Amino acid sequence: MELTIIPGDGIGPEIMKSALAVLEAVKAPFGHYVIADAGESAIASHGDTLPEKTLEAIASTGLALKGPLSTPSGGGYTSVNVRLRKHFDLYANVRPAKTLVPGGRFEGVDLVLFRENVEGLYSGDERWEEADGHPHGRGILTASNSRAGMLRFVDYSYRAAIAMGRKRVTLVHKANIMKALSGIFLEAGLEVADRYRDRIATDTLIADDCGQKLVRWPEAFDVIVTTNLLGDILSDVAAGTVGGLGLAPGANMGDRACIFEAVHGSAPDIAGKGIANPTALILSAAMLLDHVGHPEKAAAVRTAVSDCIIAGERTRDIGGELDTAAYTKALLARIAANGGNVA
Ligand code: NAD
Repeated sequence: MELTIIPGDGIGPEIMKSALAVLEAVKAPFGHYVIADAGESAIASHGDTLPEKTLEAIASTGLALKGPLSTPSGGGYTSVNVRLRKHFDLYANVRPAKTLVPGGRFEGVDLVLFRENVEGLYSGDERWEEADGHPHGRGILTASNSRAGMLRFVDYSYRAAIAMGRKRVTLVHKANIMKALSGIFLEAGLEVADRYRDRIATDTLIADDCGQKLVRWPEAFDVIVTTNLLGDILSDVAAGTVGGLGLAPGANMGDRACIFEAVHGSAPDIAGKGIANPTALILSAAMLLDHVGHPEKAAAVRTAVSDCIIAGERTRDIGGELDTAAYTKALLARIAANGGNVA
């Protein structure tokens, strides 16, 4: 099995080095890595944030582990992450949030958020219009959600939630205000919920109410299924309840390719300092191991992460003192101590 590796921008190469060491320690089943460039760092070498060679690599392996990618702010570049999701039609974004750091504000959080990934307010038909004598007098975004797209995404989410042994889906929407754009998601969601009603329960929640409930009782949520922008925001809120972005993994799932990546960005403020927390990318690699049928290797990774954090072997963003290299070394020692390389 082959895997495309995209180190990415900012802290990307630093945390990718760590994730690759962990994959090696659990004897991940990838015979060959195809290293590919993308993001701001690819402009100098390829003149594009998403070079053709990188698209070909992902198309051929069907699987990628990706570091964060920066989109240059000037020069009219479209978000490279959005381009990747659209190119491979990665229509479901899976973002788990689970308590790992004991003694934090919340205990027992264990939720999975499914975010529609290619439509809605991120679908990108956006422009400026001149108004009131100013070239940026009006900002316009035309968003759409399709019935077919919503049905496909929600159906994937229900099947995945049932496979994970989950018990209750909360469909999160804003159909009280955006009656068509969000209403179509709610309609499709309830239709799919009915298909699976014998296997998993469903309730619905308006997004703003979901926001306040998430920061009060995050442990009460099991599965959240929602649209693109709402999912982006609410998954960061969920990540915040379990220790922040340094611990939040994610997966972009499609029928032709799957790309696993941390929720966080390239963290330019700490890039090159060797202090980034690689856990989110490492937990994304654990999701990849689950996906390719190695749950025992995924569990070995998660146990090592959790053992380190409980023992206080942590990076600075979650109250520890270790730098990226020292934390990675601690993780590798835990993997070895917990039974060594998983056969
Ligand atoms: P960010 O996630 O990069 O950083 C937000 C804050 O969290 C910063 O203070 C950063 O230091 C901290 N942080 C993030 N990851 C961390 C880690 N692993 N360890 C320790 N601290 C960490 O968000 P931003 O600053 O808004 O975005 C920076 C760039 O990343 C932008 O160009 C943005 O477009 C891009 N971005 C990319 C992705 C992606 O590739 N999936 C996602 C989000 C943002």
